[in-house]
Amino acid sequence: MQQTTVCYACSRQYDATEQRCSCGEPLWFESLARTATWPTTTDTSMWRYETFLPVDNPGSLVASVGGTPLVRTVSLDTYAGCSLSVKIEGANPTGSFKDRGSAVAVAAALERDIEWIGTVSHGNMAISMASLAAASELKCLALVPDDISSARLRAIGQFDPTLLRVDGDYGRLYHDTMALGDLIDIEFTNSDSPRRVAGQKTVAFEICESFAPDVPDAIALPVSSGGNASAIWKGLRELRAAGLLDTLPRLYWVQAAACDPIARAYRDSSQEVTRVEPAETVAYSIGNHDPPSGTRALRAARETGGAVVSVSENEILDATAAFATEAGLCVEPASAVALAGVRTLADVGEISDDEEVVCVATGTGFKELDHLDAGSDVRTIEREHLEETLASLT
Ligand SMILES: *Cc1c(COP(=O)(O)O)cnc(C)c1O
Ligand SMILES: [Zn+2]
Repeated sequence: MQQTTVCYACSRQYDATEQRCSCGEPLWFESLARTATWPTTTDTSMWRYETFLPVDNPGSLVASVGGTPLVRTVSLDTYAGCSLSVKIEGANPTGSFKDRGSAVAVAAALERDIEWIGTVSHGNMAISMASLAAASELKCLALVPDDISSARLRAIGQFDPTLLRVDGDYGRLYHDTMALGDLIDIEFTNSDSPRRVAGQKTVAFEICESFAPDVPDAIALPVSSGGNASAIWKGLRELRAAGLLDTLPRLYWVQAAACDPIARAYRDSSQEVTRVEPAETVAYSIGNHDPPSGTRALRAARETGGAVVSVSENEILDATAAFATEAGLCVEPASAVALAGVRTLADVGEISDDEEVVCVATGTGFKELDHLDAGSDVRTIEREHLEETLASLT
């Protein structure tokens, strides 16, 4: 088992309990796996890459995480401006990629006899942690903002975690919980914790194994904290170190223009991501205005020859609808951001139409339907007019 964390920026090493480097940047686990072949196990879940993970498979619902479909969506090629495949992360047990990171958090707690896991989230991460904790008979503490919607509260609450609405600066909670976790025996796994990054890197493994021996030209992803972006970069680096990948796909991160600190830093040619003013976006799950792994994500895009772009609210809703009507996929607006970004990048010639691009659809849309109109244009007809109406259709 790998028990050291390391800083991507300055290479300092720490023991597994540290989450951030003294230079200020986030840490990740150094995988010791050195294998020159893809796994031969018949397990199609994320645990087929167990040798790359800092924990063992604990069983229960946790064992079913990952192994999500990668669909070649020819019907979206024209819209996207390239040869598009979609990785459907909504197929995870609680409907988002967060399950991959939560799975490692749960496994680590069980391995170390820690009774409580915790997280700071108002959405998919809290749902995921609460669900997988319940499946593994762990206690879960979810800290949510005071203004959370009742629908979200119910979605998290059904798994019976200890739910606390916290009044005050919600942004600071992320940092506060790192110290709190030491004080009380609760292991917090937030958006870019080393264990979360370790679990979430398996999506990069799955994508690359599906394409092997080829490599996709690019991967596009909606980015908020930068935790998942870091995870994909980490996964690709590990595959390269293991001799399973020669060239890395270009990594494109996409943000909502209303809240785009990483895209701004990219445009300004800054080396560091700094906070922006909080703002609302329909892409609710990616509204982090002070991303803790922003600078790391920025580095990933630059080093792989990718970019960071932002898209408007209209472009996000348009891409959400394109997913549904062109490909039959229900994704949340935050996920559609990636497709809107690919379309923008193809428009400006950054992605060409013969390139293979994987768009990661990070979460199912079935949890969040408020942005859709309520079918107000659906007409009602009398039963006696059904035959003639149908006849006029065909
Ligand atoms: C959490 C989340 C994101 C953003 O991931 P980060 O790791 O915070 O960058 C994107 N899409 C969905 C659906 C999410 O739940
Ligand atoms: Zn460092």
